[in-house]
Amino acid sequence: MKYDYLVVGAGLFGAVFAHEAKKAGKSVLVIDRRPQIGGNVYTEDVEGIHVHKYGAHIFHTNLKHVWDYVNQFATFNRFTNSPVANYHGELYSLPFNMYTFNKMWGVVTPQEAAAKIEEQRKAAGITNPKNLEEQAISLVGTDIYEKLIKGYTEKQWGRPCTELPAFIIKRLPVRLTFDNNYFNALYQGIPIGGYTKMVANMLSGIEVRLNVDYLEDKEELDGLADHVIYTGPIDAYFHYDLGPLEYRSVRFETEVLDMPNFQGNAAVNYTDRETPWTRIIEHKWFEFGKDEEGNDLPKTVISREYSSEWKVGDEPYYPVNDAKNGELYKKYRALADRETKVTFGGRLGEYKYYDMDAVIDRALKCEKELLSGVSCG
Ligand code: UDP
Repeated sequence: MKYDYLVVGAGLFGAVFAHEAKKAGKSVLVIDRRPQIGGNVYTEDVEGIHVHKYGAHIFHTNLKHVWDYVNQFATFNRFTNSPVANYHGELYSLPFNMYTFNKMWGVVTPQEAAAKIEEQRKAAGITNPKNLEEQAISLVGTDIYEKLIKGYTEKQWGRPCTELPAFIIKRLPVRLTFDNNYFNALYQGIPIGGYTKMVANMLSGIEVRLNVDYLEDKEELDGLADHVIYTGPIDAYFHYDLGPLEYRSVRFETEVLDMPNFQGNAAVNYTDRETPWTRIIEHKWFEFGKDEEGNDLPKTVISREYSSEWKVGDEPYYPVNDAKNGELYKKYRALADRETKVTFGGRLGEYKYYDMDAVIDRALKCEKELLSGVSCG
């Protein structure tokens, strides 16, 4: 049998695309090299807790159609992300808001906080921020940059903040209100029952083959379908012919602890340079109300995250979207545009620091475009 689409990768892009294509009457085969579906949103059950195996994923979006879309496949809880920053044992609220400014400077009013930021920005002499360091200082001043941004960012990206693009820090809101919600999003939550179940619902009725490595068997697999949706790394697709793009990888050290509550929050970021991990995730707090069922579970599962430079064979997590990699990506993109039977999608396929909602939005658009005979790119 020849399928209309071969979808390579059962992560969010692949699952959404496959679901929509099937709905439009197309035949679809989904393959994944891992033994499970879900890509990096995969969650697995450990001690009754859904563990975010490939890193914490908190669904948040301003796109009503995407929120409505995911709600077809899961019911979302009311989780609101409010990470705590731990700087050498001093705790600060994130994102940067009045609680943070009060703890840092003792300021009480928004006017005092704004004046403090302005004073530090002026002293640093930054008018037109050109990199992450300058952008951070101009947003929140030098004290917060030094204690809550510099160490974390340099551990996370393995590069000095002066060599990183400014947009990365713009992901975080800065607020002159007492609001610890990490995201500026109208809709937010975690799928009850875990992301794997949500993705399984997307893939319901669709043939999925696991433990299949597309690039190892490309010719034969290509023969199975008219069109391929490839969600793996774009450079791997082209055998790294132009050289590898840079990614950051993450190692998770996961432990089951014999206590009901380790850190009292889903995420604690270790923002000093000396602590080797970037953050600790306590998975149970994603799913239960803090003072409700969560405390009834006698155990807890935590993951320490260690960031490292990706090398061939590691799992790529974050594209390093700086100028150098941007140039290289453009060249890969030009090669990709010549592949008339293949569409590249997702964080790895498009080498883009996508959030989940943007991936879903993109997959929905792509499917519509391909269906109407327009190439999606
Ligand atoms: N960041 C920081 N301190 C923190 C949290 C984040 O400096 O405590 C910076 C860091 O540069 C990071 C960026 O903000 O790469 C984006 O953070 P986000 O939480 O969006 O990253 P993700 O959750 O995707 O790893």
